Amino acid sequence: MNAPLTNVQARDVEALLHPYTPIHRLREIGPLVIERGKGVYVYDTQGKAYIEGMAGLWCTGLGYGDEELIETATEQLRTLSYSHLFGAKGMEPAIELAEKLKEIAPIPISKVFYTSSGSEANDTQVKLAWYMNNALGRPNKKKIISRQKAYHGVTIMAASLTGLPYNHMGWDLPVDRVIHTDCPHYWRFGEDGESEAEFLARIVGSLRDLIEREGPDTIAAMIAEPVMGAGGVIVPPAGYYPAIKEVLDEHDIILIDDEVINGFGRTGNWWGAQTHGMVPTTISAAKQLTSAYVPLGAVLVPEDIYQAYVDHSRQIGTFGHGFTYGGHPLGCAVGAKTIEIYQKRDIIGKVRALAPVFEKRLKAVADHPLVGEVRYSGLVGGVELVADKKTKRSFDAKKGVGPGLVRFAEGHGAILRAIGDTIAFCPPMIITEAELNELFDRFEKALADTE
Ligand code: PLP
Repeated sequence: MNAPLTNVQARDVEALLHPYTPIHRLREIGPLVIERGKGVYVYDTQGKAYIEGMAGLWCTGLGYGDEELIETATEQLRTLSYSHLFGAKGMEPAIELAEKLKEIAPIPISKVFYTSSGSEANDTQVKLAWYMNNALGRPNKKKIISRQKAYHGVTIMAASLTGLPYNHMGWDLPVDRVIHTDCPHYWRFGEDGESEAEFLARIVGSLRDLIEREGPDTIAAMIAEPVMGAGGVIVPPAGYYPAIKEVLDEHDIILIDDEVINGFGRTGNWWGAQTHGMVPTTISAAKQLTSAYVPLGAVLVPEDIYQAYVDHSRQIGTFGHGFTYGGHPLGCAVGAKTIEIYQKRDIIGKVRALAPVFEKRLKAVADHPLVGEVRYSGLVGGVELVADKKTKRSFDAKKGVGPGLVRFAEGHGAILRAIGDTIAFCPPMIITEAELNELFDRFEKALADTE
């Protein structure tokens, strides 16, 4: 029996339509109402502390209550609380952050376009790919390839790029022009007796077949997240990105790198692309860009593509795209300070130093009867739970154990996230070794409760 709702929980249930929630069961579940945060801890309205093992939604890289970021935000609000970049207006924080992004980007970048979120960044990428192909006189080259199990956001185009059934079911998605290819997850999708190299060759061959079947002249871009985060923390086989890039290059198809989760140190380099051998054409960023102190997204555009936009603008006039809050001075000032902090506190060095501990603690549960596979890159990881360890059979979708385990973990003071039956880990990058061990101790208690 669930405890009766507290006053604040009852008010929450009365007032809110919660995202990504089984809303028919909200009253029964009782929302966990968070009141404050400091370091890697958040506290509920009863004062109970939780280690935030998911950095919120893969975004609070510098944890909570960082005084330097608070000071930067306060100062910016005092100086200029709002301005925008429409109609050739400018402002210092937007310029400063763009300069920093150009400096740390993994490929030469010419210009930065701001959005308020990752979904808007990916929608912008698609519009830019279409705009470019119109500019280049190839109006039929418009389809976008994404992957099964990919997560790229929830606006209509980003949700269409997403390759997860519950993002399409009930929403009349995906829209035309989006096609999905294989998810590069060997453990789950490798066939009996197939080696990882054979699996890789098969899925690259299937991408080639898809392009030939659809017609290369109809395909503008492929979008890929180096490590697939919200799809279940899926790390592709070594050699996957060079192999698909070769196919895309043959057909003049650009590669959009979705760094919304992977970016800013998460995998042990500035960009997931660097950790996983991807050479992108263009990049989407958000989340840890500001360590989630302020919503902000960005699209990083290389020179040759930018020139196509300029040419098109010459023909048709105004570049007709932009968001009221894209390049908000508060977000940009905090973003620039966040990057400065990543650099001066050597956050990437810290991720690299902690990654072996993270790996060790994940591997320690690999033999557990409920655990099918553990996966990780830098400080992002996943533990996939299965009904049958030998056959890898998943739990029936409706009877999955992931959400229950997450509730047990909350009981033990750890916040994790269930992606179906994969339990995701993505702690703030400032976490100490002792705190990381404490997070896993609490997770192991929740795993024991689940047996
Ligand atoms: N791309 C990836 C890889 C993501 O994980 C997410 C969100 O989790 C998005 C895009 C969408 O970002 P937002 O929720 O800020 O729209």
